[in-house]
Amino acid sequence: MNLKIDNNMIWLIGAACILAAALVIFLNYRRTKKTMNTIEQMLARADDVRFLEKTFDESRMSALETKFAHFLTASAVSAKNVAAEKAKIETLISDISHQTKTPIANLLLYSELLQEADLPDDVRGNAEAIYTQTEKLRFLIDSLVKLSRLENGIITLSPKRTPLLPMLQSIHDQLSPKAAEKGLILQLRDAEHIAGISAVCDAKWTAEAVCNLVDNAIKYTAQGSVTISVTAYELFVRIDIADTGIGISEEEHVKIFSRFYRSQGARDKEGVGIGLYLAREIVNGEGGYIKVSSEVGKGTVFSVLLPK
Ligand code: ADP
Repeated sequence: MNLKIDNNMIWLIGAACILAAALVIFLNYRRTKKTMNTIEQMLARADDVRFLEKTFDESRMSALETKFAHFLTASAVSAKNVAAEKAKIETLISDISHQTKTPIANLLLYSELLQEADLPDDVRGNAEAIYTQTEKLRFLIDSLVKLSRLENGIITLSPKRTPLLPMLQSIHDQLSPKAAEKGLILQLRDAEHIAGISAVCDAKWTAEAVCNLVDNAIKYTAQGSVTISVTAYELFVRIDIADTGIGISEEEHVKIFSRFYRSQGARDKEGVGIGLYLAREIVNGEGGYIKVSSEVGKGTVFSVLLPK
């Protein structure tokens, strides 16, 4: 009998323990849920920069919530500072871009008019130099404005599935006269095959990058051809721009992608050394990359690899 009572008591104590444990788990669960809700609320407010630490009653918050509140307040302040800095940079870039347009256009116009006038040879040479240098300045300002906008996140790339043929055809048509002027053949290889190929990229910016590469290929090739071709792989697409030009030595393969780098052999051609840097920034921003293979005196192939 005594044994039975003892057994019942043990059962009772056991049941009480289980109930107590369940209660503790339940209370803990509610507390965690409440904390999570508070944190979620804080994050939502931090996300749209409405977060104010004083909105939350510290006495009701756990130590974690308080620490988190401090962190979010600091983040909100620095997010506001970053946004303000970004706005200042954008204003500065727009000002430079707008305010230099008219004087540069005027310089180009007047130096063109000068070249048309009846001038002694040396003066005509000076007028031509003014025109060329102004063109260079215009290109440099345009490129630097684009770069700053990209690097500061003022312009964001929006990659989406893009058929490659229209883009490459338009680059081909746009640069063919320039190639022809130098007696070069610019060809888009196997257009029918390219017609079925798409890549995930931002059409406008990718066109800018590829255009820079084709333009370079024409600039650094004295005779022969420049060929654009496309190869599709399972996960990515490769656009090759191959030329039969001066080539690039192996030790310069990395250097040429730096800002303002120009190799010795290229100094007799007009340029500012920013085209490749910009092209790489664009393609990297789309999740792709650019590589180069070249042999001095034989030619160069730039390959743009884009996600498929
Ligand atoms: P830029 O052509 O204005 O000098 P880029 O940034 O476009 O500037 O190119 C950087 C350098 O890379 C060039 O100065 C040249 O030395 C080299 N380069 C680029 N493309 C070619 C090419 N297709 N063939 C030979 N050299 C090239």
